[in-house]
Amino acid sequence: MGTLLGFVRRGPAPEAAGGRKDERVTARSGDLLSFLGGPERLRVLLVGGDQSARNRITDLAEGTGWPTIELAGAVALLDQVDQKNATRDVDVVVRWCSGRLSVADASFVSAVAKRGTHAVVVVGGEGDHGRQARESHRCGAAAYVPGPAPDPAALLVAITNAAQRARLVRRVVDLQSRLAMLLRNAEHARWEYDPTTEQLRVSPHWMELFGDIGDFEHATNLDAWARLVHPEDEQTFLRSIHRFLQEDGALGDLEIRMRTADGTYRWFMVRGVHEMADDGPASRVVGTLTDVTELRERMDHVRAQARLDALTGLPRREVFYERLARAIEVLRDWPDAGYVVLLIEVEGLRRFNESIGHHAGDRVLAALARRFEECVDADTMIARFAGAKFAVLVENVTDFDLGARLADRFDAVARKPVDVDGEHVYVGVSVGITTSERNYRHVDDVISDVSTAASRAKQLSRGTKKRSFSTNMRMEALTKMRLEMALREAVEREEFDLHFQPIVSLVTGRLTGFEALIRWESPTRGRISPAEFIPIAEATGLILPIGRWAIRQAAKTLRWFVDHHPAAKALGVSVNLSARQVADPDLLHGVARVLNETEIDPENLKIELTESVLMDNMDEVVALLTSLRELGVKIWVDDFGTGYSSLSYLHRFPVDGLKVDKTFVDGLGPDPTDSSVAMVRTMVSLSEQLGVDLVAEGIETQEQADFLRRLGCSAGQGYFFGRPCPADQALALLRQERGASVG
Ligand code: C2E
Ligand code: CA
Ligand code: CA
Repeated sequence: MGTLLGFVRRGPAPEAAGGRKDERVTARSGDLLSFLGGPERLRVLLVGGDQSARNRITDLAEGTGWPTIELAGAVALLDQVDQKNATRDVDVVVRWCSGRLSVADASFVSAVAKRGTHAVVVVGGEGDHGRQARESHRCGAAAYVPGPAPDPAALLVAITNAAQRARLVRRVVDLQSRLAMLLRNAEHARWEYDPTTEQLRVSPHWMELFGDIGDFEHATNLDAWARLVHPEDEQTFLRSIHRFLQEDGALGDLEIRMRTADGTYRWFMVRGVHEMADDGPASRVVGTLTDVTELRERMDHVRAQARLDALTGLPRREVFYERLARAIEVLRDWPDAGYVVLLIEVEGLRRFNESIGHHAGDRVLAALARRFEECVDADTMIARFAGAKFAVLVENVTDFDLGARLADRFDAVARKPVDVDGEHVYVGVSVGITTSERNYRHVDDVISDVSTAASRAKQLSRGTKKRSFSTNMRMEALTKMRLEMALREAVEREEFDLHFQPIVSLVTGRLTGFEALIRWESPTRGRISPAEFIPIAEATGLILPIGRWAIRQAAKTLRWFVDHHPAAKALGVSVNLSARQVADPDLLHGVARVLNETEIDPENLKIELTESVLMDNMDEVVALLTSLRELGVKIWVDDFGTGYSSLSYLHRFPVDGLKVDKTFVDGLGPDPTDSSVAMVRTMVSLSEQLGVDLVAEGIETQEQADFLRRLGCSAGQGYFFGRPCPADQALALLRQERGASVG
């Protein structure tokens, strides 16, 4: 046994616990024996041997004064020794061999010797005693006595020496374990309790903790202890301690609050064991008291951190951050422990919140949470990141394509309908992906990149909307931030300009008006396309001042045209209006004021709204458009045919014209697509039914212009007729055209 080996190693002859060294051990043990109290009574367990063997042992016992030798028992079978009762209180095991030392004998000796608490004496039967002695010692026997009729004196010496050694070893083992416990418990307060006397004793550290309360200095009792326990924990304390005293198990996980010397309550873990004496269990119990207040606070903190999102039952964002931080940390030590992070954004919830009710969105998110969980294994973390966003962390990844595969899986399960109040609700997701291949050092960088990737994914229109982050995107994201700042300055400094693109009659080829398109000339960044900055202006709300400026500028320019050419009186100017502007409470008032100031014919101001703007807030929009129309302004539907709305909704809106989107015009090339032709035909007949005008956008070739005219589209706009140009060039165009029409 380890402890025995430990003891022998500490002795002067550091060798295995073999019998060869027993003289030295015994010599040393002699000194110690007087200190430990010498053996007065040796108990022998005889294994094997017949009646005469038993008699020889008994004779030994009778023939000596000191020590007294006692036959504790005799068993025939080796495995009976293992029974607890057989070895209890035994000092020496004597293996009495009737014949030669067999293999079974040798392994028995080894097994008992290894345990370290019993010495083994072998009495050899017949055969080569020298060889058998060596073999016995090799197996760990304390002594070998030649038989079959051993010399009583030799047997007595062998048993006495062996017993002394065994006792010594037992004591040392015991001392070692007590010492170990003492060391382990150095920072703990200790207590000892004797149930027979009902006395409780406590260590000085206990006194420090709880002060000189009661009679702790001297022996006291459990009641005094109980008085220190928090009233709410008192019952638990008493119940646990009494149960512990009655059984012989250990007291391990009792946690109670106790009042400390400064009057505050702190949490303590109470531990206790029944003390074992050499001869069976002692009545005393000993234990410790450990302050676990901090530990509990830390645990509480951890639990709070682990709090789950109430709606989905998934971990919350904070938990995700922690786990991700750890993954980043782990990667420093184990470069192979890669990870993949996904950000899933659920799209289209707003529609259902508005139509079915706010619980609809919640229902969908909770259902999707379950589905997403089923897509991954238990080690993968899915968290509710924010509103309609879920974050996923897969650790120990070596195949980084996993991210894309997971995105496909999430997309597939999200597409299946969710049942809300008996209605089938359909949503979609866009997924951003990034991986540890990018060598992240901070959680924030991971989140920033995966968010960028997710918003890029959102812009995709086909297949799984998933994008993996690329450095390129980070640059763009950075640019976006700078762009936003620059845009704010641009509003203040009025760095904008309007360009005008001609709109012509496809029948006569004559100019019917212009579309005003905003241009931004940044002093530091040069010309920036509206496709780039309008979305940012919308997201930041800067579109409101910009949009107001555009309407005013368009009207003023038309005034300027009219002032410079009378023919301009018949021309229209189209201005674009974005979604945020529809909700601008000042819009209507602003338009009215502009009409007043510029004194242009209200009919010549055309406001373009996209289909999606119309569909998003139908009631509000209808009210606004009706009011605008009352001012005399015309309403046009921009990018017509691209939205998801059905054409049948159109009659609900007060609309004056439709702009056929460029995508359909593109389809009217030399090899016209059936769908484009069909779509344009439908729009033409729809415009006729509704009595509204039609303009085709993005015409780039003569062919397209001819085709559209043949299909019945009356007006067009596009690079074929002219690119957007500054106001003075537009006026020049009008003069040129005016000349042409006159001539
Ligand atoms: P939109 O209203 O659909 O404007 C038409 C866009 O198509 C313009 O892009 C125009 O330059 C471009 N275009 C015209 N003909 C052709 C052609 O033959 N081929 C091609 N490839 N493109 C053609 P632009 O000027 O870059 O404007 C982009 C978008 O920015 C506009 O799309 C509109 O939604 C928005 N926008 C422009 N000005 C304003 C504004 O003052 N206010 C608001 N709210 N949005 C604006
Ligand atoms: Ca437009
Ligand atoms: Ca358009």
